[in-house]
Amino acid sequence: MTKRIPYGRQSIDQSDIDSVINVLKSDWLTTGPMVDRFESSIKNYIGCREAVSVNSGTSALDIAIKSLGIKEGNQIITTPFTFVASSNAILYNNLTPVFSDIEKETRNLDPLKIEEKITDKTKAILYVDYAGHPCNIKEIKEIADQYGLYLIEDACHALGAEYQNKKVGNFADVTIFSFHPVKPITTGEGGAVATNNDEIAGKLRILRDHGIDRDSYRNKNKTSWGYDLIELGRNYRITDLQAALGVSQFKKLDEFISRRNEIAAIYNDELGDVDQLEIPHVKKDCKSGWHIYTILINGKNRNKFYSMMEEQGVGVNIHYIPVYHHTYYKSRFNISTKDFPVTEDVFNRIVTLPLFYNMSDEQIDTVINTTKKSLKMLN
Ligand SMILES: *Cc1c(COP(=O)(O)O)cnc(C)c1O
Repeated sequence: MTKRIPYGRQSIDQSDIDSVINVLKSDWLTTGPMVDRFESSIKNYIGCREAVSVNSGTSALDIAIKSLGIKEGNQIITTPFTFVASSNAILYNNLTPVFSDIEKETRNLDPLKIEEKITDKTKAILYVDYAGHPCNIKEIKEIADQYGLYLIEDACHALGAEYQNKKVGNFADVTIFSFHPVKPITTGEGGAVATNNDEIAGKLRILRDHGIDRDSYRNKNKTSWGYDLIELGRNYRITDLQAALGVSQFKKLDEFISRRNEIAAIYNDELGDVDQLEIPHVKKDCKSGWHIYTILINGKNRNKFYSMMEEQGVGVNIHYIPVYHHTYYKSRFNISTKDFPVTEDVFNRIVTLPLFYNMSDEQIDTVINTTKKSLKMLN
């Protein structure tokens, strides 16, 4: 039997392994020089002023929101069609997520539906670049400017993606990345916040290190040992082992993204005229990072299609169960699925097909043929 094709996986080569081993032999396992080098890699790649790396994308979301200083009890508008971490981070900060419906083609927040969700408690919009496809950032920014809202970009899927020929990471007040193994590059676990605001970056560095301020305290008090806890932060620091893997992975990011684009183009070509499904859409001012490739199955046979693919050894997935479907959210918020017709329709029909850098041409063919064959057998 041929091996099951996973829906996503990391690509690690000898240079990644060497990079980590060198750190193990060095003096610094954490808060060492590799963390600075990793942050430089992020800054150089994106072209942003500051990057603060942490131990996960979720931690990055948490302190990114915290760094904006929004008073507890206020609201942030966000998408329900995401991984739970996006809105959990809003809750960590004692703020309320207000969900707004998505557009079908990209599964991103629909800018036309945001304004009706705005109240006098709304302080920010947290948008997710689903599958690595940037949101309609211009439209979202116009709304944010008009109402004086912060912009938080969950770009955990979208490292390397571009909007109007500029890298994601340069648009929102804070942009969040994840380096989990299925994401564009990996550090095992890891995350980062990119920002063009030095003051926010300073706060992020304090928040990831318990809330401790060293530099300005030592300068002011002319000591080399003092430090001061100025707010309640966390230990969200990333290790040098992880940072070293990140530095090495960054060198291959462009190659990763171009292969992902190649695979998505093959899928689009081969599946575009199959009338039992809809392929994803890329807008003309966007370059997608193709974190995942998702199709919509026409009709009501998605679950059957899913099982058939799995039975034939093709690892599929569902991204995502709408956040408001989860027990915890249901217990805290009174949300009617009727308010999210597009999210519900997409959720009921969506399937993620395998897409990762090391996929062989043969595996791509297998995914395409198995998809076509399964759809035929459905009818
Ligand atoms: C992966 C992911 C996160 C969380 O990142 P971790 O590094 O796993 O904590 C948050 N938001 C989205 C959209 C993600 O895909």
